[in-house]
Amino acid sequence: MLQVQNIIFSYQESTAIDCVSFELLKGKNLAIIGESGCGKSTLLKLIYGLYDVEKGQIFWNEKEVLGPKFNLIPGMDFMKYLAQDFDLMPFITVAENVGKYLSNVYADKKQQRILELLEIVEMTDYANVKAKNLSGGQMQRVAIARVLALEPEVLLLDEPFSHIDNFRKNSLRRKLFAYLKEKKITTIVATHDSTDVLSFSDEVLVLKKGQIIEKGTPKYIYENPKNKYVASLFGDVNEIVVDGVPHFVYPHQLQIVAESDLEVEIVNAYFRGSHYLIEAKFRNEILFFENDEYILTASTVCLAIK
Ligand code: ADP
Ligand code: MG
Repeated sequence: MLQVQNIIFSYQESTAIDCVSFELLKGKNLAIIGESGCGKSTLLKLIYGLYDVEKGQIFWNEKEVLGPKFNLIPGMDFMKYLAQDFDLMPFITVAENVGKYLSNVYADKKQQRILELLEIVEMTDYANVKAKNLSGGQMQRVAIARVLALEPEVLLLDEPFSHIDNFRKNSLRRKLFAYLKEKKITTIVATHDSTDVLSFSDEVLVLKKGQIIEKGTPKYIYENPKNKYVASLFGDVNEIVVDGVPHFVYPHQLQIVAESDLEVEIVNAYFRGSHYLIEAKFRNEILFFENDEYILTASTVCLAIK
């Protein structure tokens, strides 16, 4: 089990991680979400042991994570950390990059392992291409394969899909997270894009200004966003006040009805494939809702929460 206990960390004056505590059981997948600058990368680096915590402690089972002050080579050997700015060796091939830290004792086994990893990140066809000739998204996929190579007990992934196009992302995510579950690798994924994690995480931490402001299953947090910050991590969200109480309503939860107090004027209709996302004005506020059909700009309709 990973235990993070009351950790505090500052860069110069500003506190980046402000008393964070949580526990994560072996084999579980935890997502850390929050706006850019909230401290996600810093938290992962602290867990990996790249910085010294000012206060608090971090344990993996009975082992304490030690920062550079107490550890000659920063980073714990049972963990792997995939940095936001992954660095590959540009002048060697994809396969050589992935196999870089694998033992050469059993050459056949090593080759097989490299191919297995390239299959997960869908880079088999590029095995013999030099890393410098890859696109950003391809480099990121190779970097993922490289951190998987050593089968770490704990894997820390910092924005692992940020350079990968949507076309690839869905199948990559499915394969990667299935592999991690199968191998029972404890994983923490930091991301600003909640769609990266909704279907795959056992638990989510929402971070804001270095503090955990919410914790729960993805479904619970999505369905019960405690404030607009949390709700907006899941996309466009409307704040609708009913009897003085604000409600956070996602666009798909609003529908057109014959009559209601929520009469809106259409500002724009964005085609989304299966539906339109409609931007509308209610008094001076902008609202978003989904509708199967296009609606003319400047027309008025009444809305209700489904
Ligand atoms: P996130 O990964 O969520 O975008 P970071 O952990 O990178 O957030 O940053 C958290 C805060 O710490 C931000 O305010 C950022 O500006 C600051 N910060 C990050 N890295 C450094 C650094 N090396 N030196 C000083 N401040 C930093
Ligand atoms: Mg970051």
